[in-house]
Amino acid sequence: MTLHPDSLAVHAGRDDLASLGVHALPLDLSSTNPLPGIELGGMSYEVLATGGHPFEGGSNVYARLWNPTVARFEEALARLEHAEEAVAFSSGMAAITAVLLALTNESAKRHVVAVRPLYGGTDHLLASGLLGVETTFCSPADVAAALRDDTALVVLETPANPTLELVDIRRVVAASGDVPVLVDNTFATPVLQHPLDLGAALSLHSATKYLGGHGDVVGGVVACDARLAAALRRTRAITGAIMHPLAAYLLHRGLATLPVRMRAQQDGARVVAEWLTTRAEVARVHFPGFADSDPRGLVGSQQSGPGAMIAIELAGGFDAAAAVTASVRLFTHAVSLGSVDSLIQHPAALTHRPVASAAKPSDALVRLSIGLEDPADLVADLDQALTATTGVRERVRSALN
Ligand SMILES: *Cc1c(COP(=O)(O)O)cnc(C)c1O
Repeated sequence: MTLHPDSLAVHAGRDDLASLGVHALPLDLSSTNPLPGIELGGMSYEVLATGGHPFEGGSNVYARLWNPTVARFEEALARLEHAEEAVAFSSGMAAITAVLLALTNESAKRHVVAVRPLYGGTDHLLASGLLGVETTFCSPADVAAALRDDTALVVLETPANPTLELVDIRRVVAASGDVPVLVDNTFATPVLQHPLDLGAALSLHSATKYLGGHGDVVGGVVACDARLAAALRRTRAITGAIMHPLAAYLLHRGLATLPVRMRAQQDGARVVAEWLTTRAEVARVHFPGFADSDPRGLVGSQQSGPGAMIAIELAGGFDAAAAVTASVRLFTHAVSLGSVDSLIQHPAALTHRPVASAAKPSDALVRLSIGLEDPADLVADLDQALTATTGVRERVRSALN
């Protein structure tokens, strides 16, 4: 039976529960597993350590090689992403690290093309050269020119963190030729966007954000074809960046409400974004639902909705940004995003702090992650916080006079 996306979010990865006689997802916390014998145990080890799946009569051997609770979440996420398989990691950064290690090692190529802007941590990892990877940063239009014979991967993020710029996935895939493209799908989620359907080889999430949705799980996951998934599992088994089964349990449980959360948070974001455009303290509102934030018309063709993230540039610059983040009461001043509660943060000082100064976001920019509160309450909170910035401007002006 082919299910609609909302039904799939509720049922994926649960097909065998009735036959097991249970209703909730089983949580297996075993760090090690009984072996059927040296020979079969050894074969299981061999198969799993090289990225394969468990076989009938074998063993899961050890939690770094295979965990059934994590595998269930991976299966569910793969179905939502229209992928053959998915591989989960201890964090989004662990997932990105594994992709870089697996692809550069497999191809013996050391070069990566990265479309800016990217999440600060991703930018930092690529710029650091820590993994022996050499990176050329470029704009979406310059991808073809940045490719080399030794390019192993093209990395992009859309909507991009923190300015919410939309990158045309099909266009970058076409420009990349045979080189696999990784799309960081954290902001859109599979509710709004399916990068693999648009030609990307890998769709990656910081599961910490919308997939988790409740601010209590750290994790990462990559959806891709079976061949790449095996390479990623092998890398994960060797380097050890596994997802804890309790995290996988919480993430899988949260997938059921992901479509509903995403749409409700997006509806709230639209209300808040529109209200922000009416405020003199706000010089610019970045929101993919507005035509000036989406010049290529990608909302509707590439992603089905604008999402629930907003970025604003404050007329009063850094001082106003500091005043707003310090004055909010219902929003929490904190990094991260995608939670059921609304968050606000200053990317230049925090999430994008390690980014090279030429590519760093404006000091006047503040990023808002809209949660499930009534948008009227969020607007009221921002109203009082923005009023606080006028006070700052007046104080600065009178100090200058
Ligand atoms: C947070 C984030 C990451 C990193 O994920 P962690 O789970 O924090 O390691 C990667 N990409 C994007 C877009 C993010 O927002």
